[in-house]
Amino acid sequence: MKLSITLFSLSLIVLLISMQTLPYGKNNLQVVFRYDDYSKYSRLPMEKELFEMIKSHGGGALVGVIPFPYADHPKTAKEFDKSVFLDQEKIDLLKQYHADGTIEIAIHGFAHKNNELLDYRSEYAGMPIEEQETLLHIAKKELEKALGLSINALVPPFNTLDRSTLDALKNQGFTLLSAASSTPFYQPDDLNYLPGGPYPNKLRKVVKNALQANHYDALIVSTQHPYDIEESGVELPEFRKKDKQVKLSDIKSDLTYITNQKKTELTSIKKLSSEPENLSAERLIANMRLRNSFVSKHRLLPGPLALYPLSGLHYTVKSAKDMYARQIVNASCLFLSILAAFVIIFNLILVFFKSSKKLRLPLLLTATFLLGLAAVKIYTNQFYFISALALNVGLAIILSIFSSKNSYQSKV
Ligand SMILES: [Zn+2]
Repeated sequence: MKLSITLFSLSLIVLLISMQTLPYGKNNLQVVFRYDDYSKYSRLPMEKELFEMIKSHGGGALVGVIPFPYADHPKTAKEFDKSVFLDQEKIDLLKQYHADGTIEIAIHGFAHKNNELLDYRSEYAGMPIEEQETLLHIAKKELEKALGLSINALVPPFNTLDRSTLDALKNQGFTLLSAASSTPFYQPDDLNYLPGGPYPNKLRKVVKNALQANHYDALIVSTQHPYDIEESGVELPEFRKKDKQVKLSDIKSDLTYITNQKKTELTSIKKLSSEPENLSAERLIANMRLRNSFVSKHRLLPGPLALYPLSGLHYTVKSAKDMYARQIVNASCLFLSILAAFVIIFNLILVFFKSSKKLRLPLLLTATFLLGLAAVKIYTNQFYFISALALNVGLAIILSIFSSKNSYQSKV
């Protein structure tokens, strides 16, 4: 009993102390853009206006260029003798906004075609590494030739790749990859990473959520395609039909909104690259660990503690690690204090109830039921807060019965 009271008090104190200081408001919330599917076919006047708007607000973007839209994949570099399918105006636009630091340029695949090797869409995944290297090598070399610039970034079509793609990228001298918000096979020595984030119709909400939760210490990468924007003249594809297109004026209004917020700023790939940690593999790995933690996945903490990573935010290494550690400390303290509280309650019932022996069997049956329920929930991967509570109460009953039995025997 004494032990339970001490445990309850201690864990409650630690929980209250760690709730006091949320550290995610030290830096500015940063927003950068990624624009995919720039090709011979995308609408130039819309792109011109978009880049100019981003520039005039002091922002930046990573632009994914499709060098050979819908061309066949060559097996070797020797059998391919085409140059990139971009007309001069398209090339000039890229050069102009690259020169002033507004955009950084990436290859967006080779032909943006699904290789149909796996059960999900990808241009690279599933291919032997040599073939992936050939595609990366030609796309990089030809785009560099056309633009007169060094190209070191890849935005894989459909955001998909495999481990061989990462090795092929390293072999071909790439330094930056931008795909989905997580890439499970990433390793600490892999190249820099820019995770794709909210589509333009969701951007404002993601920023607002971050500001509301005081989660400033993060980066938001708003990912756009021509079909996200009404003026592109392209409709949303089938898999995005539920989303809404935005107008260029909406993007302008978002840019103004972002620049008007305190502690929120637009940034560029150039600025982000000047600080090695910003786009590091370590940052991605820390964020993936936080998003996949047991506490995040099973929502084991009350929402107001704001210890869950918000959708669309790429936290700094420090914040991601700190949130992860706080999740463990807070969840441990919370459930220890609940366990201790229930042990105290059941002990009191057993001590003060006149026929406490009669109570033991129904309590033991209740405990068995609760522990069984928690076990089933763990097995079926549905272990949420309520199952954790059931596990706690079940354990508390068993501990109370044993401790009351021992104290009874010691009295005898
Ligand atoms: Zn694309």
